Amino acid sequence: MTYGLRYDPKICEQCESVDCLVNCQYMDFKLPSAKTEKMKIIRQEDSAVLHQCVTCYACEEYCPNGNHPFYQIVDLQEKRGISPAPLPIVKQQIIMMQEKGDLRPKKVGAPLINMCAFPMLTGCIHGKLFEGASTIASNDIFCNIMWLHFAKNSVIRERVPRIVDRLQNFFLAENKIEEMVCFHDECYGTYTQLAPAFGIDVPFRPIHLFEYLNQRLDILKDDIQPLGVKIAYQRPCSNRLVPETDAMLDDIFRKIGVERADREFDRKNTLCCGGVLKAHQRDDLVDEIQEKNINDMVKCGATFVVFNCPFCMFTLGEAVAEKGLMPILVSDLCQSAIKQR
Ligand code: SF4
Ligand code: SF4
Repeated sequence: MTYGLRYDPKICEQCESVDCLVNCQYMDFKLPSAKTEKMKIIRQEDSAVLHQCVTCYACEEYCPNGNHPFYQIVDLQEKRGISPAPLPIVKQQIIMMQEKGDLRPKKVGAPLINMCAFPMLTGCIHGKLFEGASTIASNDIFCNIMWLHFAKNSVIRERVPRIVDRLQNFFLAENKIEEMVCFHDECYGTYTQLAPAFGIDVPFRPIHLFEYLNQRLDILKDDIQPLGVKIAYQRPCSNRLVPETDAMLDDIFRKIGVERADREFDRKNTLCCGGVLKAHQRDDLVDEIQEKNINDMVKCGATFVVFNCPFCMFTLGEAVAEKGLMPILVSDLCQSAIKQR
């Protein structure tokens, strides 16, 4: 089966605002030049965008028409052989992250928490917040959205349908479970936004970690000790695909007594953590972006930096700690607000 892209060139041709490119934080387009470059992309021609895009996913959020500008860019990069990363790195990553084929069906119960390719984080699933939860983790259920960063939509089209089948047949249907909590923001983006854009069917209901945490915090409201801290949030690239979940995070912070700093590089103005740019070997840009971002975190008076993506935390955690800020995952922050006895 071939998986195309749900994209209508006529919508882009008639678009007056070209928000996807005008709002890009990494390229400086005014409306006329944005229109010119967009027309090149529509005609499948070479464009500066294909060479300069840092693969931040943000234009998927900026487009008011849901016409998948970033996926168009990645498809065209791949078609024209324009790789954001050195090719040996792309090849190595494709081999490293391939399915190992060692996952087998197992008995699990609800709530089922999908840890994606982060088995080392399974220890986060404990206590009242995750009471009775089952976990699954393996390269065999890796969501594979990362290939958007490497001009490899073909790998997504090849692997994601297999991953969806495996999740459904090994764990969900087998155990008569219809819902799966995505610990990793990227998984939720894959199954709810990318899969429909590529015409890939998802037979189960993915639940965002924020939705799950909100439900649990409501149930556990008498056990919450408000933290009374100010935090800086590092919003991950995949959250650009599902911006509706960002308001859920505000609800979580309100419930655990946390103030989300109103800083320059949050929400629609989020900056990349720099991890992917390191893989692209764009070291000059990494230093510049991380410095701007971390200075903004320090300036806003936060004491914690909260991460929703483990990869962002691996990338920035040490650097923010050196500035005296405590790096922490959203789920661990919630854990620290709950009396365990
Ligand atoms: S992708 Fe969206 S914002 Fe960009 S030109 Fe097309 S319709 Fe307009
Ligand atoms: S993915 Fe990010 S860098 Fe690339 S065009 Fe879209 S907004 Fe710009």
